[in-house]
Amino acid sequence: MKANHRIIISLALAILSTLGLQAWTDHTLGTYPALANMPEVKDAKPVQVESFEDFLKKESQGLAVLLKEQEEFARANILNYPPKPDTIIFDPNDKQNLRKNFLMALRLNPEIRLAYYTQELPGTNISKAENFPIEDISVYKDIKFFNRMVYKTLKPKSNVSPLIVLATAADEPDYGHDIGLYADSEIELGKGNITEQGKIYGFGKQPFGDKRFEYSSQAPFHMGFYHEAGIVYAAGGFIKRTLPEYRMNQYLSLARYAFKTGHPYWGYRFTGWGLHFVQDLTQPYHTTLVPGVGVTRMLFTNIISMVGLDGAKNAIIKRVADRHTAIEHYQFEWFYSIFKNKETDNLMLRAFSDISGDVAYGEFNKDYIRNVLSKESNSRASELDSKLESWENVFKFLDYEVRYEDVKDVSPEKKEVDDFLIIMMKSFGAHTRNYLRAALKY
Ligand SMILES: [Zn+2]
Repeated sequence: MKANHRIIISLALAILSTLGLQAWTDHTLGTYPALANMPEVKDAKPVQVESFEDFLKKESQGLAVLLKEQEEFARANILNYPPKPDTIIFDPNDKQNLRKNFLMALRLNPEIRLAYYTQELPGTNISKAENFPIEDISVYKDIKFFNRMVYKTLKPKSNVSPLIVLATAADEPDYGHDIGLYADSEIELGKGNITEQGKIYGFGKQPFGDKRFEYSSQAPFHMGFYHEAGIVYAAGGFIKRTLPEYRMNQYLSLARYAFKTGHPYWGYRFTGWGLHFVQDLTQPYHTTLVPGVGVTRMLFTNIISMVGLDGAKNAIIKRVADRHTAIEHYQFEWFYSIFKNKETDNLMLRAFSDISGDVAYGEFNKDYIRNVLSKESNSRASELDSKLESWENVFKFLDYEVRYEDVKDVSPEKKEVDDFLIIMMKSFGAHTRNYLRAALKY
């Protein structure tokens, strides 16, 4: 291996091991304003909640065919796709184990809760239903974050609006769908006991992420490094091993299938799952390995660290991790405050619902994720990074106790960050709608 390659690998691995849990902190909040005014959603009739088991029982034969088609599509169209081992077969006649077998055929975490609940916007309290217990929503042990959100129980066979199903489901993939899927994923961290699915899924070893954290193994599914320099890929094959494209395609075809066969609740819920990945990739730190640092500088700082001056390298690593976290936290706090204060007209709300840019992106097709969505996000990374650098105050948002109300800054630097966020939120809305439009074309 060439020295250059070793250098890039060491820096990339160090940066990728600092990743946090989420991209945009709560996908539900942005999905509501992005879709609320869309005629396809606004005018859609409420749908009846159908259990996952009922859906599978009725559709097992058709789903077995669909799974085969999905696999053929992925092998033919997704670059660097790790094929699903032929030993993973969904048997539509094994009626006792449909749920587990289906989740495993999708190569998801078979332990996910798949609970029936809705997430409301902060401060709205629309539903009279009982609160849904937070510990039953995700597989995580650390659930502090969820305490700020409002979850309500959704009764079987009750009616619910498509908007609520879509918005609620858009946050769901962060609750454990992609945890523990690798050949070295442990049931209990540090104990060496590999998960049942990790042994058979064929994803290989976890390419990056800090394994000390329970959520680290989802990172390669929620980030897409499709636009790095050739030398970076040549250096570390693991940088190519990101999988959001796989998930978006799986959920899109599942959603279309569910709509077509008369299961609209699952059609919307699967669409929401796919939206999650679309939205993750609008975050430039999710599509760019080291925003604001070119390959030359990456190499240079590593050379310095190799001769014993680790400062430059550590500074880059810390900087990427800090800014990644800070912008997400800041955006969330700003957005949260809008709902909590019941503001109905706000620049950010308008950005999410602004449809003026939707058509220019073209229709969501098989090339959209790489050539449109992640390309745009990646092209914004350096600029975002430099704006964050100018507005040092944003680093206050590394502290999760800081709320938006605490920001008294009226500097031009803050305004630049705000304006940039508005541009990104407009894209978030547009890509969200374009994906939904594609799902509704069944
Ligand atoms: Zn995510």
